Amino acid sequence: MGGNELNYINQAFDTNWIAPLGPNVNEFEKAISRYLGAGTHVAALSSGTAAIHLGLLMLGVGKGDEVICQSFTFSASANPIVYLGAKPVFIDSEEKTWNMSPTLLEEAIVNRIKHGIKPKAILAVHLYGMPYNIQEITNIANKYDIPVLEDSAEALGSEYYGIKCGTFGDIGILSFNGNKIITTSGGGALVTNNKTIKEKAIFLSTQARDEAPHYQHSHIGYNYRMSNVVAGIGRGQMEILDDRVKARRANYNFYKKELEGFDQISFLEEPTGYFSNRWLTCIVTSSYELREKIRLTLHEEDIESRPLWKPLHLQPVFSSCTAFTNGVSEKLFNTGLCLPSGSNLSEDDLKSVTHLIKKSLMS
Ligand SMILES: *Cc1c(COP(=O)(O)O)cnc(C)c1O
Repeated sequence: MGGNELNYINQAFDTNWIAPLGPNVNEFEKAISRYLGAGTHVAALSSGTAAIHLGLLMLGVGKGDEVICQSFTFSASANPIVYLGAKPVFIDSEEKTWNMSPTLLEEAIVNRIKHGIKPKAILAVHLYGMPYNIQEITNIANKYDIPVLEDSAEALGSEYYGIKCGTFGDIGILSFNGNKIITTSGGGALVTNNKTIKEKAIFLSTQARDEAPHYQHSHIGYNYRMSNVVAGIGRGQMEILDDRVKARRANYNFYKKELEGFDQISFLEEPTGYFSNRWLTCIVTSSYELREKIRLTLHEEDIESRPLWKPLHLQPVFSSCTAFTNGVSEKLFNTGLCLPSGSNLSEDDLKSVTHLIKKSLMS
């Protein structure tokens, strides 16, 4: 925590705003929208998953539709597609960003249109904080007139040519889950440049109550609004977000400097114009066996590390879905490792991690 979170929570208690609305929610939304840039409207919600669910719903996704989805991501990106009765079509990654391959995206769109099913939306992800290929993905989306839902759950603080991630899609989403770069313990947000979409998200997330003195409903609603108590945590966290980005990037730079001399290990570099918050530092090793050796060596010293996301097209629950693959994400899954990346790691912590990795490389 940064220091001010508890003050904002106490304000909620002192004024008795213990509800899914109130001053902390409003101020948290304003702070995010100031951070993301002029013209952004933000609706604070109970989770990033809830934001994806409402986002897809507002982009018109419904029963029987197909939604194109990055395969190399956390399952929460794709689950809401299924909540809506739609089907994910998975797209593999490009080497440059590890995110959605523009080549495969266009191939998939052409293929689905040929089969008479035009995809309803494209869900692209800035994985581990690295922006996806925004220029090319946006061009393809525009060419075929398909809206983009931008999953920026891991990329608050990341930028593409100086513009903050979360603001590029037709709708963007953020997550404040406990593991993200800033947290409200649990929470999320929907980001849009259209005030009406923000208002509609708030309407849907508060049980879709029509204007009336009694409870009147013409739409199915959801209980997805953020609590005023946790929004207090969010206000405090926004004050130290830039420090967190600096700390995460410093972790990456430390690991890279210590390990770049070893040719069995490589890092994901920022292409020109890309700025990653380096939410997690990931390495790619020369083989599955080496990756496991490093992981187990760290584990023996009680240091947690984890293989990269398992691509969704390889997950049992999505095995019947159509996928356009090139082997990139599968290889990353087999040989990549997320290193300890917390904002509170000391130099001694980082040194013991790199010491153990070097030991595994040399033995
Ligand atoms: C964390 C995460 C989500 C979901 O956010 P929650 O707030 O945990 O529901 C969605 N997509 C990605 C890529 C994530 O990392």
